[in-house]
Amino acid sequence: MGLLHRFRVALVAFGLLVATRGVSSQPFRLPTDNRGLLEGGGEARFFAPTPGRSWEAGQFGCVRSEGWKMHEGIDILATRKDRRGEPLDEARAAADGEVAYISRKAGLSNYGVYCVVRHRIEGLEVLTLYAHLREVRSDLRPGSRVRAGERLGIMGRTTNTRSPITRDRAHLHLEIDLLVNDRFSSWLHAREPKTRDDHGAWNGRNLLGLDPAEIYRAQQRQGDKFSLLTHIRTQNEMCKVLVADTKFPWIRRYPMLIRRNPVAEREGIVAYEASLNYNGLPFSLTPRARSEISGSVSTRLLSVNAEEYRRHPCRKLVFQKGQTWVLTAAGNELLSLLSY
Ligand SMILES: [Zn+2]
Repeated sequence: MGLLHRFRVALVAFGLLVATRGVSSQPFRLPTDNRGLLEGGGEARFFAPTPGRSWEAGQFGCVRSEGWKMHEGIDILATRKDRRGEPLDEARAAADGEVAYISRKAGLSNYGVYCVVRHRIEGLEVLTLYAHLREVRSDLRPGSRVRAGERLGIMGRTTNTRSPITRDRAHLHLEIDLLVNDRFSSWLHAREPKTRDDHGAWNGRNLLGLDPAEIYRAQQRQGDKFSLLTHIRTQNEMCKVLVADTKFPWIRRYPMLIRRNPVAEREGIVAYEASLNYNGLPFSLTPRARSEISGSVSTRLLSVNAEEYRRHPCRKLVFQKGQTWVLTAAGNELLSLLSY
């Protein structure tokens, strides 16, 4: 009896170990039945091309308008259609989480009908966004808990763009995002009083995307060793900026991206130096003391990795003016929102 009991305890402990490892090591599941991404040579079955283009245009990054326009998610093709050719795939939560936002009116966004789910992975608040849905499950509300793999809605073709998504391109637009600023609405009202504010903080302009395909592939490659936090911290640096603030929302929301700096901790922090990837995502932040900053303590561009910029220029955050790099309007806008 005693031995059996001990065996049971060991079994439960082992089960827990497996369960915890499962949660921490492979945070994201594919959100539909389409598994082409993870099957060698399956890309053409997985990514939805733009009209007249090949599957590459359905990837994340500088894949639109000859490489000059950013696509901040991945477009996943439908695997099942009804008799009229409408997609039937379920859109499912990529990880355990909580519904953050649902927009059920297609005409209010180029995302069409969309749903945002908030997850906590390795302590990091990360969001997944599911767009162009036909419908979102009627019982879901902001705050509803969802499990990984749980149905959120049905794939559709909703959008507010001038040219509709055709049946052959029916897809789920998936994003994996970090949130820039929960005060987005007041920033928008102050900066662009005439712009409509239909989605509050859940506006695409306030979400900075990571490449979901890269994350899924890294998970597949690294298995248990995959860490989302490490994946974010090791992004390639496109530029460095100085943020002349010590309490902006990003550092409060993502303190795990802050590097230690004993000098600033001892002398007092006056600003943060942030490394941005080509999409403008601040993936590493270092506190700085006054004595470490040459020149003024102001929010500004510090340096550019020209090679990385040339590889992925489409966010147009910086440009080269003679011998010096400067922030573009888009770059200034991002820093303004980041430090608002
Ligand atoms: Zn898309």
